[in-house]
Amino acid sequence: MTTLAGLRRFLVEPQGREPVQEVCEMCATPVPPQHPHLVQVAERRMVCACGPCAFLFNKILFDNPGAGGGGYRRVPDRYVTDPDFRLTDAQWDALQIPVGMAFFLRNSAQDRIIACYPSPAGATESELTLEAWEAGVGGGRLAAELEPDVEALLVRRDKATRRGTDEAGRAGGCLLVPIDACYRLVGLVRLHWRGFDGGADAWREIDRFFDDLRDAARPLRPEA
Ligand SMILES: [Zn+2]
Ligand SMILES: [Zn+2]
Repeated sequence: MTTLAGLRRFLVEPQGREPVQEVCEMCATPVPPQHPHLVQVAERRMVCACGPCAFLFNKILFDNPGAGGGGYRRVPDRYVTDPDFRLTDAQWDALQIPVGMAFFLRNSAQDRIIACYPSPAGATESELTLEAWEAGVGGGRLAAELEPDVEALLVRRDKATRRGTDEAGRAGGCLLVPIDACYRLVGLVRLHWRGFDGGADAWREIDRFFDDLRDAARPLRPEA
């Protein structure tokens, strides 16, 4: 909850209001709706950037990898799936995530894995044991690819399990995504969730969100 406080302003898209012109927070240049983001690693703060600033600050970090504090890291734009990976029901239950969706990020400042799920109240942090991580999502090949602070592993429980319908194959599995994608999902849930189970409107938006991610993703290369 508090972990992600700095990201709160990315989560809400006020309805019925004119979209405000976003600017690069490094140089104040206006940026288009699709623009790079940087994460201030020590403060776990995400900031909007223009292309040149995203390039520049990433280069500073790259040239001074040991510099630490003050380091900004660019949020990458790759989306990767692992077609061979699925969480079992037992592994899901061990995560104790109530909504059937969760994302995991590696926090380099604290050197630990943080598990979050979207809820009507925003991104909510879940207690995650190391055992549950290692036996589940952390044991997959995508976990080895995960860049700290700026990427997340996003999982969704099979629809078949969630709703008793047979649409397995579309849901389930694991995606490696830029961290800002997770906050788009959190924003969607905040905006559309109604009542206890979210309602049809919310799940339609969530389905569309995951479909778009899957369209953008490339599969992990098969193991040699
Ligand atoms: Zn800039
Ligand atoms: Zn932005």
